Amino acid sequence: MADALVVAEVADGKVRKGTFSAISMAKKALEALGGSFSILLIGSGVKGLTGEVAGFGAAKILVCDDPSLANYTAENFAPTVAEVGKGFGLVCAVASSFGKDLMPRVAGRLDAAFAGDCADVSNEGGKVLYKRPMFAGNAYGYCTLETPIQVATARQSEFDGAEPSGGESPAEDVAKVAPGEAASRVEFVKLEQVKSERPELSEATTIVSGGRALKEQFFQVLEPLADVLSSGIGASRAACDAGYAPSDFQVGQTGKIVAPQLYFAIGISGAIQHIAGMKGSKCIVAINKDPDAPIYQLTDYGLVADLFVAVPELVEELKKHKAASA
Ligand SMILES: Cc1cc2nc3c(=O)[nH]c(=O)nc-3n(C[C@H](O)[C@H](O)[C@H](O)COP(=O)(O)OP(=O)(O)OC[C@H]3O[C@@H](n4cnc5c(N)ncnc54)[C@H](O)[C@@H]3O)c2cc1C
Repeated sequence: MADALVVAEVADGKVRKGTFSAISMAKKALEALGGSFSILLIGSGVKGLTGEVAGFGAAKILVCDDPSLANYTAENFAPTVAEVGKGFGLVCAVASSFGKDLMPRVAGRLDAAFAGDCADVSNEGGKVLYKRPMFAGNAYGYCTLETPIQVATARQSEFDGAEPSGGESPAEDVAKVAPGEAASRVEFVKLEQVKSERPELSEATTIVSGGRALKEQFFQVLEPLADVLSSGIGASRAACDAGYAPSDFQVGQTGKIVAPQLYFAIGISGAIQHIAGMKGSKCIVAINKDPDAPIYQLTDYGLVADLFVAVPELVEELKKHKAASA
């Protein structure tokens, strides 16, 4: 019997949605591990966030609240996470930039085997079987980890976020562990964050994504649609590389993995590297003038049309519909 520890991701004074996907993975892994799960909140000012994770059935909420943890660096966070993780059979987090950066270091410190970016976990005769995407999601590999402590990250788009199950998990303070020499070689300089009123891609329920075809009119065409749908905006790598959209808009194998309820691919051909980042979307709509574009192999709804005509028309129709149902 072993317990699981979920390391919560905190940003801008909130627990990030991806944490709830990591909780779902931990709960599933417990079918093999047999124990309970706890949640670690680590950062500065995180004590006030216990309420955000207290109702999910965790045995404990472990809180490491320290002013020196105000700015994340893996070197500063990993020693504490590893120390807390020593009491667990599985230490996991979401496979966001945070989880991808932090958890391999935690695994290194714990001498633990690591399974990154897991798409599923199951019970293989009392062992956790990890399912991991390979070759841009075109194949899956399965593995078990054979070390006493296992470390893993959950692909957010593959695990529905855990729902509160009631009750109130007790909170317990844990002390920060001195970070050691590695942290002295790293200095936090600044965080350059794109501030947007729009939902962050990994949290958005609707995403409107644009491709190279939009050229310099990327925002001019997509913003009205994103406004009427209250959606996030994404982009193909070609659109980002050409400078039509900022690089943190990129969806795909080397960008963000998203799984909204509704995903619009506008002027996007559907290269496998793009598809790897959005194929988990519940409903996919494409607008492309080429009826043979590969994106149509994936879509629930497709419109073969010139996007510069179709998107403004769609916006007008959606506005009328909104006004009529208001
Ligand atoms: C290692 C590696 C990693 C990569 N990672 C990513 C990644 O993370 N994300 C990603 O997106 N790509 C990634 N790529 C790039 C990927 O292979 C494609 O090149 C890219 O996705 C193409 O972007 P696009 O669909 O916008 O452009 P294009 O392939 O040029 O497609 C443009 C589409 O717009 C349509 N179109 C043109 N004009 C109009 C119009 N007026 N109205 C309607 N439709 C129109 C065309 O028919 C075409 O289908 C990666 C590539 C490599 C090698």
